[in-house]
Amino acid sequence: MNFSTVMPTYGRNDLVFEKGKGAWLTTTEGRRFLDFGSGIAVTVLGHSHPHLVSELKGQADKLWHTSNLYRISGQEKLAGRLVANSFADTVFFCNSGAEAIECALKIARRFHQAQGAKHKYRVITARGGFHGRTLAAISAGGQEKQLDGFAPKVDGFDQVSFGNLDEARLAITEQTAAMVVEPIQGEGGIVPASVEYLKGLRALADEFGLLLIFDEVQTGLGRTGKVFAYEWADVTPDIMALAKGLGGGFPVGACLATEHAAKFMIAGTHGSTFGGNPLAMAAANAVMDVILAPGFMDGVAAAADKLWAKIESLVLKHDMVFECVRGKGMMIGLKCKKTNTVVSAKILANGMLTVPAGDNVVRLLPPLTIGDLEIDSAISILDKSANELMN
Ligand SMILES: *Cc1c(COP(=O)(O)O)cnc(C)c1O
Repeated sequence: MNFSTVMPTYGRNDLVFEKGKGAWLTTTEGRRFLDFGSGIAVTVLGHSHPHLVSELKGQADKLWHTSNLYRISGQEKLAGRLVANSFADTVFFCNSGAEAIECALKIARRFHQAQGAKHKYRVITARGGFHGRTLAAISAGGQEKQLDGFAPKVDGFDQVSFGNLDEARLAITEQTAAMVVEPIQGEGGIVPASVEYLKGLRALADEFGLLLIFDEVQTGLGRTGKVFAYEWADVTPDIMALAKGLGGGFPVGACLATEHAAKFMIAGTHGSTFGGNPLAMAAANAVMDVILAPGFMDGVAAAADKLWAKIESLVLKHDMVFECVRGKGMMIGLKCKKTNTVVSAKILANGMLTVPAGDNVVRLLPPLTIGDLEIDSAISILDKSANELMN
C-alpha cells in the first residue's frame, strides 16, 4: 500500500519552497517564483518582512503561550487597534477563518436566545459563498462538493442567490437570527457584492432585528485597498470574521462585534485554548504596525491602480484566454475562457503562483507590498502565458 503519510486532502503541486523574500519564493531546487497567491491571501506583507520577523523573534525569546486563563497584553493591544479602526467594540481571538465564522454564528444565535427567542437560530447565507471547512462552515457555504460524504448537514442555514435582495427578504422567517455574506466572494470566484446589495442587507437586518455578519476572512486587512472591504460600501455589519491576512502568515483569526451584538458573550460562553496567544498576537500586531502606518494604504491603492490598468489592457489583448477581470485592490479575479486550472498551471510553469477559484477564475492575490518590479514581472508572465495558451 502506498498511502500518503500526509492525508491527501489536497491536490498539491510538486513544488517545495525553501525560503521567501517579499513577493518572491525559492524552491529547494533553487527555482524562483513570483508569489501572486500569498498562500491564499495570507502573507499580506510578503515573505520574511523584516518587521514581522523581528517582532516574532523578539516574542519567541520571551513567551509563547499562557492560555486565556490570564490576561494577554498583546490581545488587549490588538483588540484595541481593531476596534479603533472598525465598526466593532469587542474582539474574540481564534486561529483560523472557520473558527472566526463559528464564533460569529454563536454570537448571533446567543444574541436572540439569551433574550428568550429560543426559536431564532437560522442564518441566511449566499450561494457561491465560502466560510471554511468545519461542519457548520460547509453547511453555511452549501457547496455540494464540500458537503459530499459529510451528511447530515448542520441545520440552520438557508441559501439565497448572492446579490438578490428580494430572495433574502423572502427567506426571512420567525426563526431567522442573522445573515452572513462576503463583501467580495473569494473562493466563489472574486464576485463583488454591489454597494446597493450590502446597503440592502443592512436595511433588512435592521427591519427584521437580525444580525448582519460580514465574512472578511479573505477581503480584510487591506486586501481590497481599504483595511476592511465594508468601508467601500459605507455599510457596517454587527459581526465580522477575520483571519487570513491578520497574522501575515501566522495562524490568527478574530471575530469582531458590536457591544450590542456580543452583550451575552459572557465568561464561559466561548473559548479557544490557543486563540490569541502571545506569539500569535506579536505577529498580528506587527502586521497592524505596518498596515496602520500613515501612508501605507495609500501606497497599496496606488500600486493596485497601476496593476489594474495593466491587467485591463492585458485582458483586452488576450480576449481568447480571458473573459474579464473583476475584484478590488489586490484581490483580482481573471475570469477565463480557457479552463482556469490550465491557465494557472501555465502561469506557474512561467514562474508565477496564482490561485484558481470558482466560476472558472484565476485569482491574483499579491502581497500588498508589491512595487513596479513585481507588477511588470507579473504582467510579462501573464502575457507570455496567454500567448503560449493560444499556440
Ligand atoms: C479562507 C476563508 C475561510 C476559512 O478560513 P480557514 O482559515 O481556512 O478556516 C472563511 N471565509 C472566507 C471568506 C475565506 O476566504
